Amino acid sequence: MMQTPLLVGSMLEHAEKFFARKQVISQTHDKLHVLTYADIGRRIRQLMSVLTELGIQKGDRVGTLAWNHHRHLEIYFAAPGMGAVLHTINIRLSVEHIVHIINHAEDKIIFIDEDILPLVEKIHDQLTTVEAFVVMTDKPEMPTSTLHPLYSYEEVLHTGDPAFPFAHDMDENDPAGMCYTSATTGKPKGVMYSHRGLVLHSFALGLADTQAISESDVFMAVVPQFHANAWGAPFACTWFGTTQVFPGPQFTPKRLAEFIERYRVTITAGVPTIWLGLMKELEQGNYDTSSLRAILCGGSAAPAGLIRAFETKYKIPFYHAYGATETTPLVTYSRLKSYQQDLTDDEKIKERSRQGILVPGLEMKIIGENGEVAWNDKEMGELLLRGPWIASEYYKDERSDQAFVDGWFHTGDVVTVDQEGTIKIMDRTGDLIKSGGEWISSLDLENALMAHEAVFEACVVAVPDEQWQERPIACVVLHEGYESSVGKDELIEFLRPQFAKWWLPDDVIFMDEIPKTSVGKFLKQQLRDQVKQH
Ligand code: ADP
Repeated sequence: MMQTPLLVGSMLEHAEKFFARKQVISQTHDKLHVLTYADIGRRIRQLMSVLTELGIQKGDRVGTLAWNHHRHLEIYFAAPGMGAVLHTINIRLSVEHIVHIINHAEDKIIFIDEDILPLVEKIHDQLTTVEAFVVMTDKPEMPTSTLHPLYSYEEVLHTGDPAFPFAHDMDENDPAGMCYTSATTGKPKGVMYSHRGLVLHSFALGLADTQAISESDVFMAVVPQFHANAWGAPFACTWFGTTQVFPGPQFTPKRLAEFIERYRVTITAGVPTIWLGLMKELEQGNYDTSSLRAILCGGSAAPAGLIRAFETKYKIPFYHAYGATETTPLVTYSRLKSYQQDLTDDEKIKERSRQGILVPGLEMKIIGENGEVAWNDKEMGELLLRGPWIASEYYKDERSDQAFVDGWFHTGDVVTVDQEGTIKIMDRTGDLIKSGGEWISSLDLENALMAHEAVFEACVVAVPDEQWQERPIACVVLHEGYESSVGKDELIEFLRPQFAKWWLPDDVIFMDEIPKTSVGKFLKQQLRDQVKQH
């Protein structure tokens, strides 16, 4: 067979050729933009020519601090398209972490949304490698800023050559993108994505038994473009000629519901907190969501109650997926097999709240205390992965040695696997609760609690215990209106029939809000400290 390199730029060239009329709909701060892939292609070529003029060379890092919109999409292709490296920076990280990752990645230029300029102005002095800034705005005049040199995206774009060629003299293993983990566990760690990895991952998103993204879809990525490349969707959707809807900086539940109705969105992706918000909005408003054929949920475990609401009340198929920054990210996808279609509704929801089976192309191993675990859904072990879109190291980081061992990526996620090969994430290694020598899964307890009608969010953490080593404590946020009617005893009684006695939380603490990470995951470390002081 021929050895032709798999390159990110070639995906865009394909869209230009075959899907020139298909649209990208993009909400920015001030405006709704509707562009075709022909427009996007021309603008990307102009951007590559501008970057070249500005001195960006092969291998240089091009940073972005931006929300989900068409300009961000353009940088997704322009940077790797000319041989540079797209570095999406998580806006919601702490200022210290943002400074660290920009310097660590050695970004040479940074593209910034106008509302994020003040943040960059604050850290400007600490950035050691950045030579230029570009602001993305619809306003005709440049915002006043202390950043220097600062260019306006639209202004410089128009000076670029609309016929500038994509680079083809590249190796498919060259870096195309990079992303830092969202720091649920410590200082962010960098992952470099190769062209080959991104292209093969895009193929995986098009498989009929995963997301099945196709030309006829209208895809709205709610997951931020700085969170593991919006789970790879912008690459795959562009390649397949899918209509893309970008909800922009103010992606409130109301806006999401309106966009779903207005643009007849067929598939949308985000973390559970996004869907909890949308669920509330759908309860209050009257929206037509009949176009939706799939809600994709990942990033943390989707509570069964949430899946049930979308599946049964709104008749929207809800798909649970699992992955991580290190895995580009798609690893497992939850779909009922053909012979599981006649399960009862309850059984189906239970099945759908598992994280699913491995996507073709990857390999997994689950290692427990005594080697590989049996597929009995009981034994727990750490999930190990390998495959063409799994990272082989952290970028210039000594922590690589712990996570990448003998050719396998150690995910730090503890799982069980059933006879079907369907995995269930039980916890992160550090979040499991060890009580009397046995393990308790905080995730299991959380999901069970969130199935109670009064519970909006629940997070279970371990507290040290003299007798048992650790004991679980539940932190709960109630839905409005339930504050005076539901107490600790009722929730414990609700859990009792579902768990062994020693699994039941010792206490339930009611809170107004559960602290979350930059991408909407429960911040267990902080919660553990809060609970200790309680
Ligand atoms: P961080 O590692 O900083 O949280 P990531 O966004 O890469 O950043 O998170 C990956 C982790 O998120 C996984 O290792 C896993 O613990 C968790 N995760 C992702 N998807 C799911 C899911 N569907 N269910 C449970 N946990 C998930």
